[in-house]
Amino acid sequence: MSYGYIGNILHLDLSSKKHWIEHPPETFYRTYWGGRALALYYMLREIKPHTDPLSPDNLLIFAPGILTGTPAPAMPRYTVCAKSPLTGAQAEAEAGGWWGSELKKAGFDALIIKGSSSTPVYLWIKDGKIEIKDATHLWGRNTGETQRIIREELADDKIRIVQIGPAGENQVLFANIVNELKHFNGRNGLGAVMGSKKLKAIAVRGTKPLKIYHQEKIKEITKQITQRIIDNPLSRDLRNLGTLGVVRPFCEAGCLPSYNWTTGYFKEGKNLTAETYNKTILKETKGCYACPIRCKRVVEVNEPDLKVDPTYGGPEYETVASLGSICGISDLKYIAKANELCNKYTMDTISTGMTIAFAMQCYEEGILTKEDTEGLELTFGNKEALLILIEKIAHREGLGDLLAEGSY
Ligand code: SF4
Repeated sequence: MSYGYIGNILHLDLSSKKHWIEHPPETFYRTYWGGRALALYYMLREIKPHTDPLSPDNLLIFAPGILTGTPAPAMPRYTVCAKSPLTGAQAEAEAGGWWGSELKKAGFDALIIKGSSSTPVYLWIKDGKIEIKDATHLWGRNTGETQRIIREELADDKIRIVQIGPAGENQVLFANIVNELKHFNGRNGLGAVMGSKKLKAIAVRGTKPLKIYHQEKIKEITKQITQRIIDNPLSRDLRNLGTLGVVRPFCEAGCLPSYNWTTGYFKEGKNLTAETYNKTILKETKGCYACPIRCKRVVEVNEPDLKVDPTYGGPEYETVASLGSICGISDLKYIAKANELCNKYTMDTISTGMTIAFAMQCYEEGILTKEDTEGLELTFGNKEALLILIEKIAHREGLGDLLAEGSY
């Protein structure tokens, strides 16, 4: 068996509640490696043409990469793949965090899920053992509550959890999947696929280190690469400014996407720069498994009329643009709140912002009326309306039910 792999691929059928473990030969791993290549192999092999993405016939595949779980720096990622309910094409989204590494340490190179449970369930994987557990009491709960309850009932606060919130349960077509409350498989509605299978979460605990061919050599290489990453000005900027570092140059060049992409000029752009962000809402930076960069933002707002919980991380550039300038909004505190709500409910912040911006433009052009919006003044820049619409989309209420279908 190749080093870095375990040799186990877990298959789970949620309709029959049966699971089995496949042990592919080394030639398979040498061909497909892991991550999206491995996931695509199973998608092409098992998903029939014209499969409804929200039917039990769709697959939901979780696959870490070849170096995930090793000490190699900045390699914590895993992919999630399925047929997308948003586009009808292949959906693929990667996340960092800890979950992918934990899955490998728990004894699996990938997890392939088909079928659909009749009642909400979550999956508990511990060092090669698999259990399907009732999740009726978790259905409808936001991500922070779900993580707390699962860790309490399994009596282990080191469990790593991927999960969906209410937007995934309600099959919002751009719902995403989150691990550790702030690392997202963001795009293409993978959370809706998970919701259609009534799979609330996958809790994983692994204590077996991966077998590495030359432990000493990898330690030496890891040390060298880690130092090079730390010394590199780009990773220093990423740590200090995050992905928000691009906002200032974009503003200066007149190419910050704004007002549903109708212009690149945003008058209040300076309110959205990394420098303003760091001064006003940044609490700290955090990282992922074995990554020295620590680029992840954590924000906090503590005002009498607006609180943002740091548990849910902080917005990156794409989120600040999508929920900010593209909606004509320049108040970072409201953007941070919108980000927190999306993260609690598991909605992709990019698609959420684009969909709301599209609705705002429709309202400005008289295509949507106050009757359609239930009295909401849905003009560009209305930050209160942004928060209200996020709630409505996640719970598929009123206009939110229509917007939950996306803006494609
Ligand atoms: S801390 Fe940032 S750079 Fe490092 S793995 Fe996580 S997302 Fe990537």
